[in-house]
Amino acid sequence: MRVNQGKCSNRLSIVSTPIGNAEDITLRALSVLKEADLIACEDTRVTSKLLAIHQIHTPLISYHDHNAEQVRPRIIEALKQGQSIALVSDAGTPLISDPGYKLVRNCVEEGLHVVCVPGPCSVLAALTLSALPTHSFYFAGFAPAKSKARQVFFSDLLGVPGTLIFFESARRLSDSLTDMMTVFGNRQAVVARELTKKFEEIRKDQLQGLINFYATHGAPKGEIVVLLDAGGPQPRKDQDLDELLKIVLEQKSLRDAVELVATTTGVSRRRIYERALFVQAAADEPS
Ligand code: SAM
Repeated sequence: MRVNQGKCSNRLSIVSTPIGNAEDITLRALSVLKEADLIACEDTRVTSKLLAIHQIHTPLISYHDHNAEQVRPRIIEALKQGQSIALVSDAGTPLISDPGYKLVRNCVEEGLHVVCVPGPCSVLAALTLSALPTHSFYFAGFAPAKSKARQVFFSDLLGVPGTLIFFESARRLSDSLTDMMTVFGNRQAVVARELTKKFEEIRKDQLQGLINFYATHGAPKGEIVVLLDAGGPQPRKDQDLDELLKIVLEQKSLRDAVELVATTTGVSRRRIYERALFVQAAADEPS
């Protein structure tokens, strides 16, 4: 095992920072942040607080979605001049639904050295606490905000043979769970909230159970990761199959839609085909 201390010039370091508990930062992250010439961060106010806790005085430059096109060439130029630059996000691992991918791509294209200083990431924290299978998983990021687009987004993931992981806002959680129920059926699901913080909570139930819970108790507060079991075949009523087929038939041919829905629901191709014809006929009826 290598112990890496001292200044690492001429490189971009991707540094993970805490997702809620300030103590979740590695020794290496602290030394890289201390030794860097510059730290590129999303919000200088957020990163200043972290640096103050650890008495780090490295200068900051903001690098976020709205200024990335202007700032990226300056970072690349500084790296070429031999500076060492650390990239952090507001919390967790940069590049994971956070800025940085294009910066890393540019560095690689320019032959600049990039290193990773691994640490907290809400995706893996949620997965490891979910008690869902971990041998195969698919991180899908944030689903679209509008219900129709969200259903299409979910339907593209129907055949994924592993645990599905999504980011979601507390405000949209109930609507999103309802759309998941429409597309995936009543799968086992987990809402992982406020991980590593004081009010950390893991709530696991069938989707319908979670929908009922939040309908009764109201929207939760805080940051949320939603996980869905890959699920086996679920019993589905004709009406549920029709809802799903309506979404899938907008993206795929009759043949492909029948194949996908039959495979993922475990319902016979014959029954799915009949429902698909019914859905198509209903859609063609003049209103
Ligand atoms: N790059 C970050 C990471 O590695 O965790 C994720 C950044 S993304 C913009 C922010 C989203 O991550 C939040 O909306 C929430 O879905 C999830 N998240 C971040 N911290 C969390 C926490 N402590 N508990 C639950 N979810 C969290």
